[in-house]
Amino acid sequence: MNMNKKQCELAKSFIEKNSLPVPESGCWIWEGCEDHGKVRFLGENELLSTLAFEAYKGPVPNGLSVTHQCHIEGCVNPVHLGLLNITIRNKN
Ligand SMILES: [Zn+2]
Repeated sequence: MNMNKKQCELAKSFIEKNSLPVPESGCWIWEGCEDHGKVRFLGENELLSTLAFEAYKGPVPNGLSVTHQCHIEGCVNPVHLGLLNITIRNKN
């Protein structure tokens, strides 16, 4: 999803309202509705990690996917999200 500035702000408040910060790890654990990691936002099904990345850091470039550096699937802390080259991952 290509979000404009207003949609990014909406996504940020959506994420912050539905997640619970864990002081020990710094993770923000998603507590809202999700279906296999996907959430409904502005009428579209979006991967939670992708939505969080795009809201705080900008669009995910083609060929890259969002990965959790903390290895917690439900984490939406943008600081813990990084980009992974899909072609490299598929070789493993
Ligand atoms: Zn995390």
